[in-house]
Amino acid sequence: MELSNYHSHCDYCDGRAPMQQFVQAAIDAGFRAYGVSSHSPLPFPAACAMPAERVEEYIAEIQQLKRERANQIELYAGMEIDYINDDFGPANDYFQALPLDYRIGAIHYVAHPATGQLMDVDGPPDRFANALDSLFQGDIHAVIDAYYDASHRMIARGGFDFIAHPDKIAMNAERVDPGVTRTPHYRHRIEAYLEDIAARRLMIEINTKAYHSLGALFPHQEHLQRLRELRVPVIVNSDAHYPHAVNDGRPEAINLLKTAGFRHLTCLSKGEWITVDIDH
Ligand SMILES: [Zn+2]
Ligand SMILES: [Zn+2]
Repeated sequence: MELSNYHSHCDYCDGRAPMQQFVQAAIDAGFRAYGVSSHSPLPFPAACAMPAERVEEYIAEIQQLKRERANQIELYAGMEIDYINDDFGPANDYFQALPLDYRIGAIHYVAHPATGQLMDVDGPPDRFANALDSLFQGDIHAVIDAYYDASHRMIARGGFDFIAHPDKIAMNAERVDPGVTRTPHYRHRIEAYLEDIAARRLMIEINTKAYHSLGALFPHQEHLQRLRELRVPVIVNSDAHYPHAVNDGRPEAINLLKTAGFRHLTCLSKGEWITVDIDH
Protein backbone atom coordinates (compact mmCIF):
# COMPACT_ATOMS: atom_id res chain seq x y z
CA MET A 1 0.00 0.00 0.00
CA GLU A 2 1.13 3.54 -0.74
CA LEU A 3 2.11 4.81 2.72
CA SER A 4 2.07 8.56 2.37
CA ASN A 5 -0.08 11.46 3.51
CA TYR A 6 -0.08 15.11 2.47
CA HIS A 7 -2.85 16.54 4.62
CA SER A 8 -1.94 16.79 8.29
CA HIS A 9 -1.93 19.27 11.12
CA CYS A 10 0.21 19.96 14.20
CA ASP A 11 0.32 22.49 17.02
CA TYR A 12 1.07 25.42 14.71
CA CYS A 13 -2.70 25.28 14.04
CA ASP A 14 -5.34 22.96 15.53
CA GLY A 15 -3.29 19.73 15.47
CA ARG A 16 -2.92 18.23 18.94
CA ALA A 17 0.86 17.58 19.11
CA PRO A 18 4.17 19.06 17.97
CA MET A 19 5.17 18.52 14.34
CA GLN A 20 8.01 16.16 15.18
CA GLN A 21 5.61 13.75 16.95
CA PHE A 22 3.57 13.42 13.74
CA VAL A 23 6.74 12.86 11.74
CA GLN A 24 7.88 10.19 14.21
CA ALA A 25 4.46 8.50 14.02
CA ALA A 26 4.70 8.44 10.22
CA ILE A 27 8.20 6.92 10.37
CA ASP A 28 7.04 4.34 12.94
CA ALA A 29 4.11 3.43 10.64
CA GLY A 30 6.57 2.83 7.78
CA PHE A 31 5.56 5.84 5.71
CA ARG A 32 7.54 6.60 2.55
CA ALA A 33 6.49 10.27 2.48
CA TYR A 34 4.66 12.71 4.75
CA GLY A 35 3.53 16.29 4.28
CA VAL A 36 2.61 18.74 7.03
CA SER A 37 -0.19 21.13 6.03
CA SER A 38 -1.24 23.45 8.84
CA HIS A 39 -4.22 25.74 8.33
CA SER A 40 -3.19 28.98 6.66
CA PRO A 41 -3.43 32.34 8.40
CA LEU A 42 -6.85 33.94 7.87
CA PRO A 43 -7.88 37.59 7.39
CA PHE A 44 -9.84 37.45 10.68
CA PRO A 45 -9.16 35.87 14.10
CA ALA A 46 -9.72 32.10 14.17
CA ALA A 47 -8.51 29.60 16.77
CA CYS A 48 -7.87 26.82 14.24
CA ALA A 49 -5.62 28.88 11.94
CA MET A 50 -1.86 29.42 12.12
CA PRO A 51 -1.01 33.03 13.03
CA ALA A 52 0.77 34.82 10.16
CA GLU A 53 3.72 35.63 12.41
CA ARG A 54 4.45 31.91 12.89
CA VAL A 55 4.57 30.92 9.21
CA GLU A 56 8.32 31.46 8.82
CA GLU A 57 9.07 29.36 11.92
CA TYR A 58 6.64 26.67 10.67
CA ILE A 59 8.39 26.27 7.34
CA ALA A 60 11.85 26.40 8.97
CA GLU A 61 10.89 23.58 11.34
CA ILE A 62 9.77 21.34 8.48
CA GLN A 63 12.99 22.10 6.58
CA GLN A 64 15.04 21.16 9.64
CA LEU A 65 13.14 17.87 10.12
CA LYS A 66 13.58 17.18 6.40
CA ARG A 67 17.35 17.36 6.80
CA GLU A 68 17.44 15.40 10.08
CA ARG A 69 15.17 12.60 8.83
CA ALA A 70 16.32 12.49 5.19
CA ASN A 71 17.36 8.84 5.38
CA GLN A 72 14.09 7.77 7.05
CA ILE A 73 11.27 9.54 5.19
CA GLU A 74 10.51 12.12 2.47
CA LEU A 75 9.07 15.17 4.23
CA TYR A 76 7.18 18.00 2.57
CA ALA A 77 6.13 21.50 3.58
CA GLY A 78 2.49 22.07 2.69
CA MET A 79 -0.31 24.35 3.80
CA GLU A 80 -4.10 23.99 3.81
CA ILE A 81 -5.06 27.39 2.46
CA ASP A 82 -8.57 28.75 2.90
CA TYR A 83 -10.33 30.32 -0.05
CA ILE A 84 -12.51 33.08 1.46
CA ASN A 85 -13.20 35.14 -1.66
CA ASP A 86 -11.34 36.33 -4.74
CA ASP A 87 -9.30 38.67 -2.51
CA PHE A 88 -8.11 35.98 -0.13
CA GLY A 89 -7.16 32.45 -1.13
CA PRO A 90 -4.42 30.12 -2.38
CA ALA A 91 -3.87 32.25 -5.51
CA ASN A 92 -2.81 35.28 -3.42
CA ASP A 93 0.74 36.51 -4.04
CA TYR A 94 1.46 36.01 -0.34
CA PHE A 95 0.74 32.26 -0.45
CA GLN A 96 2.35 31.82 -3.88
CA ALA A 97 5.58 33.42 -2.61
CA LEU A 98 5.92 31.16 0.46
CA PRO A 99 8.62 28.48 0.01
CA LEU A 100 6.15 25.58 0.24
CA ASP A 101 6.41 22.22 -1.53
CA TYR A 102 2.68 22.22 -2.25
CA ARG A 103 -0.55 24.04 -1.49
CA ILE A 104 -4.01 22.66 -0.69
CA GLY A 105 -7.11 24.65 -1.59
CA ALA A 106 -9.87 24.39 1.02
CA ILE A 107 -13.28 25.83 1.83
CA HIS A 108 -14.23 26.04 5.50
CA TYR A 109 -16.04 29.40 5.43
CA VAL A 110 -18.83 30.56 3.15
CA ALA A 111 -20.28 34.03 2.76
CA HIS A 112 -23.99 34.80 2.69
CA PRO A 113 -24.62 36.01 -0.89
CA ALA A 114 -26.51 39.14 0.24
CA THR A 115 -25.00 40.11 3.61
CA GLY A 116 -21.47 38.84 2.99
CA GLN A 117 -21.37 37.51 6.56
CA LEU A 118 -19.09 34.49 6.88
CA MET A 119 -20.19 31.15 8.28
CA ASP A 120 -17.78 28.42 9.42
CA VAL A 121 -19.28 25.32 7.80
CA ASP A 122 -16.73 22.89 9.24
CA GLY A 123 -17.12 23.54 12.98
CA PRO A 124 -18.95 21.57 15.68
CA PRO A 125 -22.59 20.65 14.87
CA ASP A 126 -24.18 22.99 17.43
CA ARG A 127 -22.19 25.98 16.16
CA PHE A 128 -23.14 25.07 12.58
CA ALA A 129 -26.83 24.83 13.52
CA ASN A 130 -26.73 28.20 15.30
CA ALA A 131 -24.98 29.93 12.41
CA LEU A 132 -27.38 28.33 9.94
CA ASP A 133 -30.30 29.90 11.83
CA SER A 134 -28.77 33.31 12.51
CA LEU A 135 -26.95 33.92 9.20
CA PHE A 136 -28.91 31.84 6.66
CA GLN A 137 -32.39 31.85 8.27
CA GLY A 138 -32.19 28.06 8.62
CA ASP A 139 -32.01 27.53 4.85
CA ILE A 140 -29.62 24.58 4.43
CA HIS A 141 -29.94 24.65 0.64
CA ALA A 142 -28.73 28.27 0.64
CA VAL A 143 -25.63 27.21 2.61
CA ILE A 144 -25.05 24.32 0.22
CA ASP A 145 -25.32 26.76 -2.70
CA ALA A 146 -22.90 29.19 -1.02
CA TYR A 147 -20.45 26.33 -0.41
CA TYR A 148 -20.46 25.04 -3.99
CA ASP A 149 -20.48 28.56 -5.46
CA ALA A 150 -17.33 29.31 -3.43
CA SER A 151 -15.82 25.99 -4.49
CA HIS A 152 -16.28 26.78 -8.19
CA ARG A 153 -14.73 30.23 -7.66
CA MET A 154 -11.79 28.73 -5.77
CA ILE A 155 -10.91 26.33 -8.57
CA ALA A 156 -11.35 29.06 -11.19
CA ARG A 157 -8.76 31.13 -9.28
CA GLY A 158 -6.38 28.16 -8.80
CA GLY A 159 -3.05 28.48 -7.00
CA PHE A 160 -3.12 25.08 -5.29
CA ASP A 161 -1.90 21.55 -6.03
CA PHE A 162 -5.01 19.70 -4.94
CA ILE A 163 -8.46 20.29 -3.47
CA ALA A 164 -9.13 19.38 0.17
CA HIS A 165 -12.28 17.39 1.08
CA PRO A 166 -14.38 18.62 -1.93
CA ASP A 167 -17.77 17.92 -0.32
CA LYS A 168 -17.03 18.65 3.35
CA ILE A 169 -20.30 20.58 3.63
CA ALA A 170 -22.02 17.17 3.53
CA MET A 171 -20.88 16.43 7.08
CA ASN A 172 -22.75 19.24 8.86
CA ALA A 173 -25.56 19.41 6.29
CA GLU A 174 -26.41 15.76 7.02
CA ARG A 175 -26.29 16.44 10.77
CA VAL A 176 -28.89 19.22 10.63
CA ASP A 177 -30.99 17.75 7.80
CA PRO A 178 -30.45 13.99 7.41
CA GLY A 179 -30.94 12.94 3.80
CA VAL A 180 -30.29 16.41 2.34
CA THR A 181 -27.26 15.11 0.37
CA ARG A 182 -29.57 12.74 -1.50
CA THR A 183 -31.92 15.48 -2.71
CA PRO A 184 -31.90 16.41 -6.42
CA HIS A 185 -30.63 19.91 -5.49
CA TYR A 186 -27.59 18.57 -3.67
CA ARG A 187 -26.90 15.88 -6.28
CA HIS A 188 -26.97 18.52 -9.00
CA ARG A 189 -24.49 20.72 -7.12
CA ILE A 190 -21.96 17.96 -6.38
CA GLU A 191 -22.19 16.55 -9.91
CA ALA A 192 -21.57 19.99 -11.45
CA TYR A 193 -18.60 20.53 -9.12
CA LEU A 194 -17.02 17.16 -9.93
CA GLU A 195 -17.47 17.89 -13.64
CA ASP A 196 -15.82 21.32 -13.21
CA ILE A 197 -12.88 19.69 -11.36
CA ALA A 198 -12.48 17.15 -14.15
CA ALA A 199 -12.74 19.75 -16.91
CA ARG A 200 -9.95 21.77 -15.26
CA ARG A 201 -7.86 18.58 -14.85
CA LEU A 202 -7.39 19.16 -11.14
CA MET A 203 -6.37 16.69 -8.45
CA ILE A 204 -8.45 16.06 -5.36
CA GLU A 205 -7.85 14.30 -2.09
CA ILE A 206 -9.89 11.47 -0.68
CA ASN A 207 -10.05 12.65 2.94
CA THR A 208 -10.30 9.80 5.43
CA LYS A 209 -10.41 11.82 8.67
CA ALA A 210 -14.02 10.93 9.58
CA TYR A 211 -14.20 7.46 8.04
CA HIS A 212 -14.02 5.66 11.39
CA SER A 213 -16.17 8.14 13.33
CA LEU A 214 -18.86 8.94 10.74
CA GLY A 215 -18.42 6.24 8.09
CA ALA A 216 -17.91 8.86 5.39
CA LEU A 217 -15.03 9.81 3.15
CA PHE A 218 -14.80 13.35 1.71
CA PRO A 219 -15.73 13.11 -1.11
CA HIS A 220 -18.23 10.52 0.06
CA GLN A 221 -17.55 7.00 -1.17
CA GLU A 222 -20.75 7.09 -3.22
CA HIS A 223 -19.01 9.55 -5.58
CA LEU A 224 -15.90 7.42 -6.20
CA GLN A 225 -17.28 5.66 -9.25
CA ARG A 226 -18.22 8.99 -10.83
CA LEU A 227 -14.72 10.34 -10.09
CA ARG A 228 -13.28 7.28 -11.79
CA GLU A 229 -15.48 7.89 -14.87
CA LEU A 230 -14.34 11.52 -14.92
CA ARG A 231 -10.69 10.36 -14.57
CA VAL A 232 -9.97 12.68 -11.65
CA PRO A 233 -6.58 11.91 -10.04
CA VAL A 234 -6.84 11.18 -6.32
CA ILE A 235 -4.53 11.50 -3.31
CA VAL A 236 -5.52 9.56 -0.17
CA ASN A 237 -5.02 11.69 2.96
CA SER A 238 -5.83 11.18 6.63
CA ASP A 239 -6.02 14.90 7.62
CA ALA A 240 -4.44 13.76 10.91
CA HIS A 241 -4.84 16.03 13.93
CA TYR A 242 -3.36 13.40 16.31
CA PRO A 243 -0.08 11.48 15.76
CA HIS A 244 -1.81 8.10 16.20
CA ALA A 245 -4.12 8.97 13.27
CA VAL A 246 -1.55 9.43 10.48
CA ASN A 247 -2.87 6.40 8.56
CA ASP A 248 -6.47 6.37 9.88
CA GLY A 249 -8.94 5.27 7.23
CA ARG A 250 -6.38 5.23 4.42
CA PRO A 251 -6.34 1.42 3.87
CA GLU A 252 -10.16 1.36 3.85
CA ALA A 253 -10.31 4.26 1.38
CA ILE A 254 -7.81 2.59 -0.94
CA ASN A 255 -9.94 -0.57 -0.92
CA LEU A 256 -13.06 1.47 -1.74
CA LEU A 257 -11.17 3.17 -4.59
CA LYS A 258 -10.17 -0.23 -5.96
CA THR A 259 -13.79 -1.39 -5.81
CA ALA A 260 -14.78 1.76 -7.73
CA GLY A 261 -12.29 0.85 -10.46
CA PHE A 262 -9.33 3.07 -9.62
CA ARG A 263 -5.98 1.63 -10.69
CA HIS A 264 -3.70 4.49 -9.65
CA LEU A 265 -3.07 6.91 -6.80
CA THR A 266 -1.24 10.22 -6.94
CA CYS A 267 1.59 10.97 -4.54
CA LEU A 268 4.76 13.02 -4.18
CA SER A 269 8.07 11.37 -5.01
CA LYS A 270 11.31 13.36 -5.01
CA GLY A 271 9.25 16.55 -5.09
CA GLU A 272 7.09 15.63 -8.10
CA TRP A 273 3.46 14.53 -8.23
CA ILE A 274 3.47 11.08 -9.81
CA THR A 275 0.97 8.25 -10.15
CA VAL A 276 1.63 4.85 -8.61
CA ASP A 277 -0.16 1.56 -9.08
CA ILE A 278 -2.88 1.28 -6.43
CA ASP A 279 -1.64 -2.24 -5.55
CA HIS A 280 2.02 -1.40 -5.19
ZN1 LIG B 1 -9.90 21.16 6.02
ZN1 LIG C 1 -7.15 19.74 7.47
